[in-house]
Amino acid sequence: MRIVLSLVAFLVLCTGLYSPQATAGLIQASVVKVASDTVPPTDKLSKKELKKIRKAEKRKARRAAKESTQPDVATDTIPPVPDTVALEYDTLPEPDTVAVVPVPARKDTLVIVGVGDIMMGTNYPDDSRLPPDNGAFLMRAVEEYLRDADVTFGNLEGVLLDSGGTVKQCKDPKVCYAFRSPVSYVENLVRAGFDIMSLANNHAGDFGDEGRQSTMRVLDSAGIAHAGQLTRPYVLYIRDNITYGFTAFAPNSGCVSLNDIKNAQSIIAHLDSVADVVIVSFHGGAEGAQYQNVPRKKEIFHGEDRGDVYALARAWIDAGADIVFGHGPHVTRTVDVYNGRFIAYSMGNFCTYRGINIAGVNGLAPIMKVHVNRSGEFLWAQIIPTYQTYTDGVQPDPQKRVIRLIRELKEKDFPESPLQIDDDGLINYIAQ
Ligand SMILES: [Zn+2]
Repeated sequence: MRIVLSLVAFLVLCTGLYSPQATAGLIQASVVKVASDTVPPTDKLSKKELKKIRKAEKRKARRAAKESTQPDVATDTIPPVPDTVALEYDTLPEPDTVAVVPVPARKDTLVIVGVGDIMMGTNYPDDSRLPPDNGAFLMRAVEEYLRDADVTFGNLEGVLLDSGGTVKQCKDPKVCYAFRSPVSYVENLVRAGFDIMSLANNHAGDFGDEGRQSTMRVLDSAGIAHAGQLTRPYVLYIRDNITYGFTAFAPNSGCVSLNDIKNAQSIIAHLDSVADVVIVSFHGGAEGAQYQNVPRKKEIFHGEDRGDVYALARAWIDAGADIVFGHGPHVTRTVDVYNGRFIAYSMGNFCTYRGINIAGVNGLAPIMKVHVNRSGEFLWAQIIPTYQTYTDGVQPDPQKRVIRLIRELKEKDFPESPLQIDDDGLINYIAQ
């Protein structure tokens, strides 16, 4: 500021722009902003002194032009009337405060990213199923897609606990797996940009209450919102002045029930009354490559009621849900829109290290990037196709296999749906 005003003073002196009005403005400005400026009153200066000052000012101006990060401000915007200049500079904000907006503007379009199951390796029964480098590489190749959203969601298919806990007793030991990931692996979720996670699934209780509490504590301390456990059936997540309500259902003990429609509807109705956008997660449907279709009827798998996910999704949307993110079958299922609201029936194995089969279609999964308006109504979506290997983690799929899969399944399961999915995974909905 001092440099600029001194420069103005210098220009006034040199270019004959002197006028009483101009001087008054300059002095006023000097009093307000640069009272300690060292330019002495010109009438008391000898020619020699004046020359000295001018030389010094020139040096200062050159230095300022060199050093200033905004040289144009100091040089180009000096208007011909100096008092105007002085006042303008008085009101010029400091550069680092220019972009500060106290309340962010509410966006018209919100981007919600959803992925399926995440299990970053298990230290149970031993460390042989843990990835190298704490699993930091697992999602690295797709982190840019995950982070590029207002809200990023995933299903945490396991427990965050270093050791201990009460391992679950399985009805059928042949299909029994218990997943316990080291606590430090939460850093991978944070780095990938996850904001909310489902804890309603058949592995959240693998290590009893100790496991549940550890997982919740670790996510809380990492700033990741979560819901789905009976002790926290829903959560509100606020970002950029938009409130997201989130709840998650599963048919497993300790989780908010998948099949209790009345309970689910009352949670959703409450969220709908307090949130702008309501996101519902469910872990349901039978598992495996032979269960990629949505059967529109109840699915029983290993004696467990995995729900009629078609009817449930519609009941939840009727109650106020805006986005339904499904997972559980360990394969990808298709998508639909009901009443202007988006449903992904299963987003498959997104990031599942050793312990979960990722061969063939089991290793293909979408990153579902859903665009909605501020009321949660579906606008359009983008499928980012991925595949995973144990050595490289999750990778973008140049073959776009899961896009073709979702499109084929859509033609088979929902031929009546006006959804259109193009070769690049763009999902459009032409309402009828
Ligand atoms: Zn599961």
